[in-house]
Amino acid sequence: MVSKELPFTKEKIEEIIQTYPTPFHIYDEKAIRANAKDMLRAFSKVNGFKEFFAVKALPNPYILKILKEEGFGADCSSLPELLLAEKAGITGENIMFSSNDTPADEFVKAREMGAIINLDDISHIEVLEKTAGLPDVLCFRYNPGPLKEGNALIGKPEEAKYGFTREQLFEGYEILKKKGVKRFGLHTMVASNELNPDYFVETARILFEVIVEISKKVGIQFEFVNLGGGIGIPYRPEQDRVSFDKIASGVQKAYDETIVKNGLTPPKVYLECGRVITGPYGYLITSVRHLKSIYKDYVGTDACMANLMRPGIYGAYHHITILGKENQPATTKYDVTGSLCENNDKFAVDRMLPKVERGDLLVIHDTGAHGYAMGFNYNGKLRSAELLLRPDGSVKQIRRAETIDDYFATLDLNGLKNFK
Ligand SMILES: *Cc1c(COP(=O)(O)O)cnc(C)c1O
Repeated sequence: MVSKELPFTKEKIEEIIQTYPTPFHIYDEKAIRANAKDMLRAFSKVNGFKEFFAVKALPNPYILKILKEEGFGADCSSLPELLLAEKAGITGENIMFSSNDTPADEFVKAREMGAIINLDDISHIEVLEKTAGLPDVLCFRYNPGPLKEGNALIGKPEEAKYGFTREQLFEGYEILKKKGVKRFGLHTMVASNELNPDYFVETARILFEVIVEISKKVGIQFEFVNLGGGIGIPYRPEQDRVSFDKIASGVQKAYDETIVKNGLTPPKVYLECGRVITGPYGYLITSVRHLKSIYKDYVGTDACMANLMRPGIYGAYHHITILGKENQPATTKYDVTGSLCENNDKFAVDRMLPKVERGDLLVIHDTGAHGYAMGFNYNGKLRSAELLLRPDGSVKQIRRAETIDDYFATLDLNGLKNFK
């Protein structure tokens, strides 16, 4: 069981809101760094281990710079994400470009940057060759189809749009070999928010076994294998965190029994996790604006789905703490809502909480990944600021809140005056 402790006090948040009004996300730098170190320590026994942080989870260049300092690369899937990584000083083969349905100009940019390109489809070999030229190193994304049981969030692999079939992998590496590509990788991503370490070990084993077969049949050596992301986090207080040590030792055992046993040149092992790297270390801070009692009791906050989509779209659980009421009994059942004209706009449904009052400060936990990032402007709602709680206790704004001017920036209002 994970205790939902906070890295700040009520007084600290009251001080912060003097400068940065709610709502905002705040990220705990010290905990992010400690977690990154823990991952690298656990996987240090795995050959050539490297983590490429999935930028989509928390696309802020300050965070990327912190993770770079800890030794991580970046996993990008669009042109803006490539540019974010570049701004953070992550370059060349420290970038994995794992996209799908990819526009040609993004292949060109990834190629210019010297990123490792991970192709989602066999037909992209030709597109890449024509638009950007084939690089020395290429990776393919494998969709294991019915070989792999589905995971709750991402579904069954054979229903997923991603990757090459098994047959296409053999054909694809043949083509690369003929075309003079020298260095090869294999990738998959079949999980999301998965808390069972065995799931990742089993996935690794499937990849290692395919590598053994392809190496023999096609006559190539693999330089790396990328096990993807998808490691889950304990959103609920009664859940436990996934042990990096358990995944690492399971992966190592599978590696020994496949790659090593068959005498292959040992490929390096990569991950591209997002959620487990930053998710637990972000908090959405919001103030209670209104309370209403009709058929149910509602807490209306000054945040909304634009700040955190997961509860609204997946019914995902995010723990909520009322600052200053941590030790009060949870006596009242509430729906905690935002202000969108959309009934899904709820952070919690039927949640037992201590008695809430107008002006209370709520902490919505575990918003450090797929939180701010999924924001949108429906109903003219503006995205919040992102703050960084530094290890010395100071606070740095790492993204300002959107303003009405940002909202109007894409409209030509002078054109509107003359428009009849
Ligand atoms: C989303 C995604 C990730 C990261 O997933 P997490 O669940 O945040 O670890 C990694 N790789 C690819 C290709 C993805 O689409």
